[in-house]
Amino acid sequence: MVALSVVVPCFNEQACLPALHERLGAAARAAVGDDYEIVLVNDGSRDSSWELMRRMAADDPHLLAVNLSRNHGHQLALTAGLDLCRGATILIIDADLQDPPELLPDMMRAMRDEDADVVYGVRRSRTGETAFKRATAHGFYRLLSRATEVDIPVDTGDFRLMSRRALDALLAMPEQARFIRGMVAWIGFRQIAFVYDRQERFAGETKYPVKKMVRFALDALTGFSSAPLKLAGRAGLLLSIGSVLLILYIAFAWAAGENIPGWTSLMLVVVVLGAVQMFVLALMGEYIGRLYNEAKGRPLYIVQEVAGAAPSGARLGYIADATANSDKPGGKGKRPTR
Ligand code: UDP
Ligand code: MG
Repeated sequence: MVALSVVVPCFNEQACLPALHERLGAAARAAVGDDYEIVLVNDGSRDSSWELMRRMAADDPHLLAVNLSRNHGHQLALTAGLDLCRGATILIIDADLQDPPELLPDMMRAMRDEDADVVYGVRRSRTGETAFKRATAHGFYRLLSRATEVDIPVDTGDFRLMSRRALDALLAMPEQARFIRGMVAWIGFRQIAFVYDRQERFAGETKYPVKKMVRFALDALTGFSSAPLKLAGRAGLLLSIGSVLLILYIAFAWAAGENIPGWTSLMLVVVVLGAVQMFVLALMGEYIGRLYNEAKGRPLYIVQEVAGAAPSGARLGYIADATANSDKPGGKGKRPTR
């Protein structure tokens, strides 16, 4: 057990890693002295992030570098790091230094003073992000808070400080489709906001293209709300009212001796109905696909190798034969226990 763990998921972040390492180390020393660890998780980077991490871990005993077997995605890479870290307090931060590590001592003070289990960063401003990203994020967080029963704070990313008991509660949730900021809100305890200004990316480009953003948003929505499933019912109700009106209209027109030429209106009804049905089917598909994924019960991530101090074990993932990990020989690997 160390006083502080800093957990960082990294995907193609070689340009950020040296500065990240230096600034995180300095911030951690300012906050807790020497009693800290930094857990870098390489999420199947295609650049030389892993080589770099391994070299840094060889030089710095505070560093634990974890290499996943492939790109598992931000939330699962983060889960791997959280699973393997050993801190009494845990900081989650992105590799791109958009969230300044220098805030750590203040966040820890806030946690102590307010006796909180979670201190989550709230973005007052987001510099260096496209108008598109800002607008979609803004809309998304508000839609989400309307659709869900859990109070998920708006404009909050994964940048946060957590206590060990809060993290243990989070790690007790075995789901595959993880929306970690929402799951943390779900666990409760005392959680306080910490307002800060989000910086520009230190180097490189965003690792969240539109496709990943959509998937992430769907994970959040389906994971925290079944409201979309009720859409079919609402659409059905609206359409029935519409059809009653249509029948009345046709009856009156017939009584007045009018012959209604119907191609346009008929096509319209057919096309609209078809679209609504397909949309609702697609929504159900999103839920069923996730249900199927959860039903398989696979480990959330696979660790290929570890450099640095030995991890204590994985609850949610699978650690392949840890050859880089000299204290723990044997080729069995560790499976999640569930
Ligand atoms: N990331 C990851 N796996 C992925 C995509 C992203 O580990 O498949 C990491 C990335 O390296 C970064 C964090 O997740 O540390 C957030 O990504 P990014 O900064 O690109 O997202 P944005 O800030 O643009 O939303
Ligand atoms: Mg970023």
